[in-house]
Amino acid sequence: MAAYVGRFAPSPTGPLHFGSLVAAVASWLDARAAGGRWHLRIEDVDEPRTVPGAEDEILRTLEALGLAWDGPVVRQRERTARYREALEKLRRQGLAYRCRCSRREIADSGVHGVDGIVYPGTCRHAAIPEGMPAATRFLVPAGPIAFDDRVQGLVSQRLDSEVGDFVVHRRDGLFAYQLAVVVDDADLGVTDVVRGADLLDSTPRQIALQRALGLATPRYLHFPVATRGGEKLSKQTLAPALGPDAGSQALRAALAFLGQAVPPPAPAAEILAEASRGWDPARIPPRRSLEVTEGNGNRYPLDL
Ligand code: GLU
Repeated sequence: MAAYVGRFAPSPTGPLHFGSLVAAVASWLDARAAGGRWHLRIEDVDEPRTVPGAEDEILRTLEALGLAWDGPVVRQRERTARYREALEKLRRQGLAYRCRCSRREIADSGVHGVDGIVYPGTCRHAAIPEGMPAATRFLVPAGPIAFDDRVQGLVSQRLDSEVGDFVVHRRDGLFAYQLAVVVDDADLGVTDVVRGADLLDSTPRQIALQRALGLATPRYLHFPVATRGGEKLSKQTLAPALGPDAGSQALRAALAFLGQAVPPPAPAAEILAEASRGWDPARIPPRRSLEVTEGNGNRYPLDL
């Protein structure tokens, strides 16, 4: 079996908050407990959503918490040539086609799937001239795509009826997250993806792309998404930002949320060392979301 390679892939849309800290801590611990590598990738493929200064702040916060990464930081904005090659590969196999449908036209088709409206394949046979601005969609395979998530168990999805052919290259010229993440993980040799369950429904799309591109499928672990009052923590829900002086209390709260034993207050490095010795993914609650105040029975203050 290949040696463990993990990663943390934050989008630089703001500073870390509790939800993204949980992703950093879970992926770091899983990698370190396995004696593996842990890479940091800044997911700025969606350039218009990038917030100036956010990347720097994320890096400084991780450093201050002792969440050290291996190798150079990967930035998606420097990787578009690789995404283009993957897109060409899909095209050559007849697995991608251009689409000029508007949001409105798609919305009017009206069938809801796991992630918005299921694209009905309108442009599958449309001949759209090369010079004309258009999105590119991946022709999804028929039949279910299943995988065994380390926390969520067996997940199965039919892309044709639940998602439809999805966009891999946007009309505005940007590559879609689904394509970028698959190419990036493969280039890093990632063996284990550890991330929030908000991406569980994206995973079958990513597996389908891996298969089409001849890439290996990593193992997946999706921990519950942190919610407050039923809403995912995010900048929009005003989740408090965790700056470089967030401190070890934030790490303890993340461990409690992940159902792990929580070491007594100590410097961050000691908390991480102890947590990686005791890391037990079987204790992560097998749920898609979890209120920040629940923490698997461990009560902890979340005045972060
Ligand atoms: N960039 C994504 C996020 O911040 C994570 C993507 C992933 O882990 O695959 O939500």
